Amino acid sequence: MVRVLLGISLLVVLACSEKTNESAKVYFAGEIVNPTSDYVVLFKDDSVIDSAQLDDNNRFSFSLSGMKEGLYHFDHSPELQYVYFTEGDSILIRLNTVEFDESLVFSGKGSEVNNLLIELYLTHEEEKPLVYSYYKLDPEVFTKNMDSLRQAKLNLLGSLHEEYEFSDNAYKMANASIDYNNFIYREEYPFYHRKKTQEDKTHEFGEGFYGYRQHLDLNNKDLAYFSPYYHYLKNYFSNLAYMACAEDCGTEILKSKNQLHYNKHKLYLVDSLIHEEELRNNLFRNVAMDYLLKEHKWNEDCDKFIAKFSKLSTNEKHIEEINDLYKGIQRLQPLSNVPELTLVNNMGEKVSLRDITKEKKTAFYFWSGTQKGHLRNISRHIAKLKDKHREYNFVGINLRTSHAQWLNLLNEYDLDTLCQYRSDDFEAIQKGLILDNLNKCVITNDSLVIDAFANVYYSFKK
Ligand SMILES: [Zn+2]
Repeated sequence: MVRVLLGISLLVVLACSEKTNESAKVYFAGEIVNPTSDYVVLFKDDSVIDSAQLDDNNRFSFSLSGMKEGLYHFDHSPELQYVYFTEGDSILIRLNTVEFDESLVFSGKGSEVNNLLIELYLTHEEEKPLVYSYYKLDPEVFTKNMDSLRQAKLNLLGSLHEEYEFSDNAYKMANASIDYNNFIYREEYPFYHRKKTQEDKTHEFGEGFYGYRQHLDLNNKDLAYFSPYYHYLKNYFSNLAYMACAEDCGTEILKSKNQLHYNKHKLYLVDSLIHEEELRNNLFRNVAMDYLLKEHKWNEDCDKFIAKFSKLSTNEKHIEEINDLYKGIQRLQPLSNVPELTLVNNMGEKVSLRDITKEKKTAFYFWSGTQKGHLRNISRHIAKLKDKHREYNFVGINLRTSHAQWLNLLNEYDLDTLCQYRSDDFEAIQKGLILDNLNKCVITNDSLVIDAFANVYYSFKK
């Protein structure tokens, strides 16, 4: 009798698990035109779920089981984009890497919310110049304009929801994209407004201006890796830290731009307002990176700050990463040796970074084949600099582009092949030279670092 019961209960268990697996299946496939890598990698937050190799027709497919509903992202190096899965979805994508986000189209079951999310993302990008033009307006008018931009998107969400009946979570995700992207601008407004109007103090704002903050959800685990939300929180804490410092410590200390002081405010605020552990750690990491990169020195202040950060963060990986970054910064202090890194020239030959800088002044700048706008602008700018600063050798380092594509671009943009190199190892260059922004420039003289944290647009006299 016992045996039989056991047998039945096992069957029931099996049947149950089979059933949940069945309903939690997700099919995700697509075609990539002009692929920039052989793989598509699927992530949930910062963990890899699965990867798929492109076939001869540049197609890939994932058959996933046991998937939880929610936001994922897929990476086709060097680009990535979000995809939202609901149980039973069967989603197809098509994209062309030449215009990754703009070309991305979803079809199949589950495509509606995904097409909405990408549309919201693109609209947000398109609206940036318009919103920047609003920054000079008075707070009341600015708020009114921002309200109407937000309302138009909420109306779109409402009508699509009526048609397709999104799941609760999918609806919330789209709503969060609308809200937080809109709220980011409101956090930025006080600073841009002052800059544009040349007012010498930031405005005193009425209660109404920050009214939207009542609706913030500061501890939303589901949104922790959703960039509009995360980006919003970063801006929110910058604003809070600035205002807290102005009120508690006075404008003198603010004007002195003491980064250690200001970023301690930030750490304190994140510590007191955010309880969700992963989100807390991510924000601590962000504050620490921001601080180290702004300071880019090797001194007691940085030591103190890292000690404070290491006490607050519970993520060992982040602590290690911040320590590595700090070591990287130490290695790039003025008069250090140029790091040992290898690049490739247009003949496919290996060349060491040190050799390139030997016996002359060299300024390295960086570009990638996927960012044509940047390539166009920086090439134009470097041509001007070359003319005015003949004592320098201006050297472009290309990243995240295939060799063949790189050669085509050198030709298309008429770049001097003697001053152009590329690297396959993005990470080595990024970590070795601490690549934190597109306009970064590394200035060297005879294999020694002069300024590893220069900027092509600001570091040379006009
Ligand atoms: Zn302060």
